[in-house]
Amino acid sequence: MYDVIVIGGGAAGLMAAGFAAKEGAKVLVVEKMVTCGRKLLISGSGRCNITNTLKDTKQFVSKFGKNGKFLYQAVNSFTTSDVVAFFNSKGLKTTVEKGFKVFPAGEAGSADVLRALMNFCVSNGTEFLPSYPVTAVNTEDGHIVSVTAGGREIKCRAVVIACGGKSYPATGSSGDGYTLAAALGHTIVEPRPVLVPAYSGDEWINELRGVSLRDIRLTLVSGGKQTASADGDLVFTDRGVSGPAVYDITRHGFDRDGENKLLIDLFPAKRFEDLDAELEQAARINNKKHIKNIIDECVMSSIVPVVFQLSGIDPVLKASNLSKKDRNRLASTMKGLALNGVTFAGFERAVVTAGGISLKEIDGRTMSSAIVEGLYFAGEVIDLDAPTGGYNLQMCWSTGRLAGISCAEYAKKR
Ligand SMILES: Cc1cc2nc3c(=O)[nH]c(=O)nc-3n(C[C@H](O)[C@H](O)[C@H](O)COP(=O)(O)OP(=O)(O)OC[C@H]3O[C@@H](n4cnc5c(N)ncnc54)[C@H](O)[C@@H]3O)c2cc1C
Repeated sequence: MYDVIVIGGGAAGLMAAGFAAKEGAKVLVVEKMVTCGRKLLISGSGRCNITNTLKDTKQFVSKFGKNGKFLYQAVNSFTTSDVVAFFNSKGLKTTVEKGFKVFPAGEAGSADVLRALMNFCVSNGTEFLPSYPVTAVNTEDGHIVSVTAGGREIKCRAVVIACGGKSYPATGSSGDGYTLAAALGHTIVEPRPVLVPAYSGDEWINELRGVSLRDIRLTLVSGGKQTASADGDLVFTDRGVSGPAVYDITRHGFDRDGENKLLIDLFPAKRFEDLDAELEQAARINNKKHIKNIIDECVMSSIVPVVFQLSGIDPVLKASNLSKKDRNRLASTMKGLALNGVTFAGFERAVVTAGGISLKEIDGRTMSSAIVEGLYFAGEVIDLDAPTGGYNLQMCWSTGRLAGISCAEYAKKR
């Protein structure tokens, strides 16, 4: 008989298991894949942005939108600084990038984060059962009694469902957590893929594969209306665009079946009027130059041909011959390179799943179920998602730790 069975050995499940075991509980992690932490290994492209430097809990949880307040207790009891201290205490040094994102330092990456977590679990006595998909969580008189995994019934006092969402299903997270929770009476808010790359058939992107743009503003036009914008970096892929700015914009509404367009503002810090005035001044001072040479000085060279192609202005036009209308066209093109016919990837390429187990039936002070005694939840399986920048993993660490401590306490009393 186990005190606690954690279903899923991802970021949230391992944190829950380690803390439950540290509290003295007899803990088993049941994992359907051969090894734990597959998604963790690909996080941050193998570098793993474990958290960020945002210290104010209110501000932190606001990044999760209207559902964020649910997270207050979990994050407040295991903050971004606590997470850094936790990993540092396990021998994983960390570094801060761009003054905000926290990564493992030096050559270290996701594999070292996973190793630190596994050591934490094992050193506190957690046991593991890999290659066993859990197919049922069993109850008697409204409380947990066992789980069924690979046809075996394993008895326990408490269960943490930490099966992740539906994104990157090859990592093991294919939505089982929703099925298990729904079978126990929990409501599932429809899962949808977010933080996904965008695709476009526009030919002008073909020459730009691999080119990165830093600190741009991306605006989404969906159904003819500007519905969202996001600031950050972007990279051109073989089929469209990806990167933090693209990911973040996909958390906001877009019409999956309708007409979507993305506008890339190369100068988000400048108003159109200011950019236009700068162009006017540059053209006046350099009136003998080709207009291409003037644009060359303000945007990266790989983008210059695109600016001319999309604006329809002749690049070898003499600056002295640049009309006001043409200058306006150049400025507005640079403030909104248009990607047309945009579609977005599905779960197979989603960094995160939005939706999940409804927060209305979970107690945010303990992560316990309001429906079944002895049932707890942690991580992406619950209805929480945030932009890129270490928010999603921090949510997994905080909810995982809280679920682990709470279920160990519960199991002790049973
Ligand atoms: C490409 C990519 C990059 C990312 N980069 C970052 C980043 O840098 N920073 C950041 O904050 N976030 C990042 N994320 C998001 C972050 O990785 C996830 O939010 C987080 O790993 C989710 O952890 P989890 O433990 O909730 O779920 P998961 O990591 O999905 O773990 C769930 C586990 O449950 C197991 N499981 C599922 N069903 C069953 C079952 N029936 N029985 C037993 N086991 C089961 C799965 O096999 C899996 O091991 C990234 C995500 C992706 C895909």
